[in-house]
Amino acid sequence: MNLVSRVVVASLPLVPRAAVRRIASRYVAGETLDQALETVRLLNAQGCMATLDVLGEDVARKEDSERTVSEYLRAFDGIAMHRLDSNVSVKLTALGLKLDPHHCRRELARIVEAARRHGNFVRIDMEDSSVTDETIRICLEARETYQRVGLVLQAYLKRSLEDARRAAAVGANVRVCKGIYQEPPEIAFQRRDPIRDSFAGLVDFLLESGSYVGVATHDPILLRRALATVERLRLRRDAYEFQMLLGVAGDLRRRLVAGGHRLRVYVPYGEAWEAYSMRRLKENPAIAGNVIRGLFSAG
Ligand SMILES: Cc1cc2nc3c(=O)[nH]c(=O)nc-3n(C[C@H](O)[C@H](O)[C@H](O)COP(=O)(O)OP(=O)(O)OC[C@H]3O[C@@H](n4cnc5c(N)ncnc54)[C@H](O)[C@@H]3O)c2cc1C
Repeated sequence: MNLVSRVVVASLPLVPRAAVRRIASRYVAGETLDQALETVRLLNAQGCMATLDVLGEDVARKEDSERTVSEYLRAFDGIAMHRLDSNVSVKLTALGLKLDPHHCRRELARIVEAARRHGNFVRIDMEDSSVTDETIRICLEARETYQRVGLVLQAYLKRSLEDARRAAAVGANVRVCKGIYQEPPEIAFQRRDPIRDSFAGLVDFLLESGSYVGVATHDPILLRRALATVERLRLRRDAYEFQMLLGVAGDLRRRLVAGGHRLRVYVPYGEAWEAYSMRRLKENPAIAGNVIRGLFSAG
């Protein structure tokens, strides 16, 4: 982290809560399911699909994971009732992965069962490297009961190509992203170019293997590289999708949609918006810079 980034991160606690809320409102759909569904409706009207994320991770008590699961069940009902084009993204630590993996599996099974009832899809987000093995294991296990469960691989992790081979072997649906947590150099690429090469390599490998890939990035260079692969392999539009975060890179998003590509927007919502925003901001000084810039442009 360079000096400017360190100063930006150190300044975050000084930013007034109201200002954080105002800036976070660009990245978070709101506190309630109704607000999130309205955001999805607007995105669908713009030709984008969505994935709903109930905010909250790393629960301290099992009861908290039960609340999260109930919210996901309501989300599936709301998506179906309003005929929206959205699936869900779930963090296993929000289902108690670190407290008790068996509890987490049972909680995930309830979400997967709801997805099956609605003919919908569940994406398991990838968190920090302390839970990579367990997350992949639980995700692949869940696929044995219902295939429409997908995993995420992070390009900064040196292990990811090996994980991609396992995923491709069972035809899993994979989101590829750079990775947002701070990881040590022994296990993770630290510099921009090796991360980009790893990202492009994962996307190429998975698409060549016939896996459905969610290309999750706003990086124009990586988007160009993915588009070149799609062209080279003459892929149908339903063999892959692009994915972006709510509130980020609207222009790129619109261009991809206009080009006829499938594009899904990640829509986080829930009461834990503040903790989520602050954590994301601290983890990624580049994003923190956006907050400080936002403070000056938010008027
Ligand atoms: C749909 C989706 C799902 C994700 N799921 C996971 C996951 O499960 N696990 C995980 O570890 N990470 C996840 N991420 C985060 C990802 O790993 C990156 O940290 C994040 O997307 C930024 O990387 P980038 O590829 O866009 O490249 P960057 O080089 O970081 O960004 C490229 C450009 O995009 C813009 N940009 C990027 N992020 C922001 C932002 N927040 N605000 C404003 N501008 C921004 C900037 O202009 C930047 O120059 C996900 C990202 C997306 C889009």
